[in-house]
Amino acid sequence: MSIRYEAERSDVAAAARTMLETGLVVNTSGNVSVRIGEHVAITPSGCPYEDLAPSDIVVLDLDGKPVDGDLVPSSETPLHLSLYKGDESIGAIVHTHSVYATAVSTLVDTLPAIHYQIADLGGPVPVAPYRTFGTPELAAVVSDAMKGRHAALMQNHGAVTVGDTVDQALSRCITLEWLSRVYLIAQQNGTPSLIDDEELERVKAQQKKFRGEQKKRLRNRK
Ligand code: 13P
Ligand code: ZN
Repeated sequence: MSIRYEAERSDVAAAARTMLETGLVVNTSGNVSVRIGEHVAITPSGCPYEDLAPSDIVVLDLDGKPVDGDLVPSSETPLHLSLYKGDESIGAIVHTHSVYATAVSTLVDTLPAIHYQIADLGGPVPVAPYRTFGTPELAAVVSDAMKGRHAALMQNHGAVTVGDTVDQALSRCITLEWLSRVYLIAQQNGTPSLIDDEELERVKAQQKKFRGEQKKRLRNRK
């Protein structure tokens, strides 16, 4: 029997499994969602990722009203909904408690531009101040920190990234974890040099050029 939004709910379940397999999360920490028009498909709260079936992914409207699925949605639903409501262009959200990003979130207010790949996250990554998990207060401070960015750290908690697709949001979480690791290693060994805003703009232009052309060539192959 087919279920509503089966393809999107499968994508969410697959991304949650990838989070576990790539070591971005342990046990049931973190959560994943995608937007489908006025609806959102999100991982259920506290369920092992290995066992998730598409029908376990909960569907809600943007006000949190249940649309489909019988499980309790992620405790971070207020955060996901707040981000979607604040920026129409967001198509997917990934939240993790990955080790290096969480460590950095306890040390600084911003993850600085220690490598040009931080341009993929929109620039230096702000750390939203600590609030209790699953609360509207956490949703508010993280939504605020995310303005003009594709990623934020959550103090003493973890990381959150957004994307057009769940693959892009996941890829940004992997980038953020890698950057956090580089930062921690660098600053244990001295004072890291940083890339300035002007240079980051040049990096973004280069990325656009190379990625745009590659996309065109890949399309032409089909
Ligand atoms: P859920 O299992 O409720 O999604 O909670 C995990 C989490 O990361 C809370 O911040
Ligand atoms: Zn969390």
